[in-house]
Amino acid sequence: MSAPEVRIDQLTGLRSILAPGRAERPEAFVPRRADASPQAAESCPFCEGREDRTPAEVWADRPGEKRPPDTPGWNVRSVPNLFPALAEPPGEGSRPPESGGGFSAPIDPLSASRRVGGGDQFRSEPAAGAHEVIVNSPAHATSLLDLDEVGFAAAVEGWRVRSAAHPDASYVHLIVNEGPDAGASLEHSHAQLYALGFVPAEVARERERASAYHERTMGGDLLTDIAVDEIRRRDRLVLVDDGAILICPWASRSPFHLRVIPRQPRGNFADSGAVLAPILRAALQGLGSVFDGLPQFNLWVRTAPRGIGRFVWHAEIVPRLTVAAGFELGTGVDINVYPPERAAADLRAALA
Ligand SMILES: [Zn+2]
Repeated sequence: MSAPEVRIDQLTGLRSILAPGRAERPEAFVPRRADASPQAAESCPFCEGREDRTPAEVWADRPGEKRPPDTPGWNVRSVPNLFPALAEPPGEGSRPPESGGGFSAPIDPLSASRRVGGGDQFRSEPAAGAHEVIVNSPAHATSLLDLDEVGFAAAVEGWRVRSAAHPDASYVHLIVNEGPDAGASLEHSHAQLYALGFVPAEVARERERASAYHERTMGGDLLTDIAVDEIRRRDRLVLVDDGAILICPWASRSPFHLRVIPRQPRGNFADSGAVLAPILRAALQGLGSVFDGLPQFNLWVRTAPRGIGRFVWHAEIVPRLTVAAGFELGTGVDINVYPPERAAADLRAALA
């Protein structure tokens, strides 16, 4: 067992503590299976033929003879989320009603310390934007891995097309949650897209770091240079294909954390996201092989925020093998019990 070490993610600056030894082999993790339920399939609103059970579609991949929206005959279909985290058009900002609060005695220090002109510490604004659900297949697939090569590519193309459909958003976040432990409320495979009116702090920080690197190196792309190094060093490299490379990141946040990096340094997933499909499918197949069944997982694409700045998009896959607890939540620092070098070796062996 080696001594714990702190590693810093090159893109975000976030620290992880690598504390191996608690889990020596992949068998140490017993991922909870997300078993498909027959009842869920019978009443699934995402299945072809039940288009009337979702909000009206905003887009669908309909091959051949075009049929009207919200009817069968589609490969991939996008609808507004029934319970959106973001709403368009923006409504009124919500603000708690004015009240004197629970402190009425003038001697109370909390009450006495109220300053005038200190700014509004309870400001809110409408969460404007779009929140879409992209249904990955017309049949009741409960995993991305249930899709064949063609279906998988069609789903990823749907993610790319919808990512391109929100040019005015400050940031477009694309995710897949697979399995209830990963936050999926319906088992039928789907992605979600959040078109945000602001740039999340972690994304802004990554853009700043990429821009600073670009200036410091007189034109280098941070992520592309990391990819070149990872290919040379090989110990965290899982797979290389024509379009992208797959690695276990240096400062992996959790066991078997995976990162897909496009070989052509493009900022926006909406421009060049097609290269994601083959390598993502292989990544999930590798995980499925190592764990004798695909663990529940979260997937997200980090793409360039709107506006200036150097950036290279990438995709992250995090299988739900461990639980973020008080340390991780309270510090923003993850403890990873499985070295990325070992995870990459396991995956290489599984994919060989
Ligand atoms: Zn279904």
